[in-house]
Amino acid sequence: MRIILFGPPGSGKGTQGDLVEKRYGFPKISTGDLLRQAVQDQTPLGRKAEEIMNQGRLVSDDLVEELVQERIKSPDCRRGYLLDGFPRNLAQAQSLERMNGGRAEIAVEIDIDMTTLVRRLESRRVCSSCGTIYNLLVQSLGKKGRCDICGGPLYQRKDDNPEVIKERFRVYREQTEKLRGFYKAKDVYRQIEGSGPVEEVFSRLSAVLDAELAELGENKALG
Ligand code: AMP
Repeated sequence: MRIILFGPPGSGKGTQGDLVEKRYGFPKISTGDLLRQAVQDQTPLGRKAEEIMNQGRLVSDDLVEELVQERIKSPDCRRGYLLDGFPRNLAQAQSLERMNGGRAEIAVEIDIDMTTLVRRLESRRVCSSCGTIYNLLVQSLGKKGRCDICGGPLYQRKDDNPEVIKERFRVYREQTEKLRGFYKAKDVYRQIEGSGPVEEVFSRLSAVLDAELAELGENKALG
């Protein structure tokens, strides 16, 4: 199954995507993560994307489309995958359809109120080594600001500051919200409530995915 997870910055797409990967075995493909890696490695693409990302604007469609196209060719994506942060606008959604040969997918939007989002983004920290996402509101930074899982140093994303957060919301409203209408028209749109503890949100998401899998006649969770 091909799952598109979308929602405003801070809605929990990354965290929920990791949980989906673990439970269902669909690899999470985060264009934000792929781009941040390219920036860190200072590849030609990373150098082009860095400034734009730091301002909270969208990187050009052809750059991200190329990243996704390459990634979904991998053998681990054959059973399906989960996209986190792609598509971000209508042009990308249409491009994804072409990559998929028009095959069906499900688009799940995480709905959440603005105050919660801003609080979450300002208190988000990420492991620079394995990418695990932490939130200071619910977790203390145990081991001197290091990741509980791999021990890597935690950092705050450059775009998680108040000015850039504002711009990312503006971009979301202007571009990504339009995807709702696009996927509704195809009858593949689902919405879940994104507030509350991570496990609660995941049980809402799993209910949607299980129903979809049952309809597709695929195997349920892997374990
Ligand atoms: P994210 O981690 O999804 O919040 O993405 C962080 C930043 O990466 C965004 O603010 C954009 O600058 C860039 N980015 C990620 N995904 C896309 C996309 N699909 N299209 C354009 N830019 C993207």
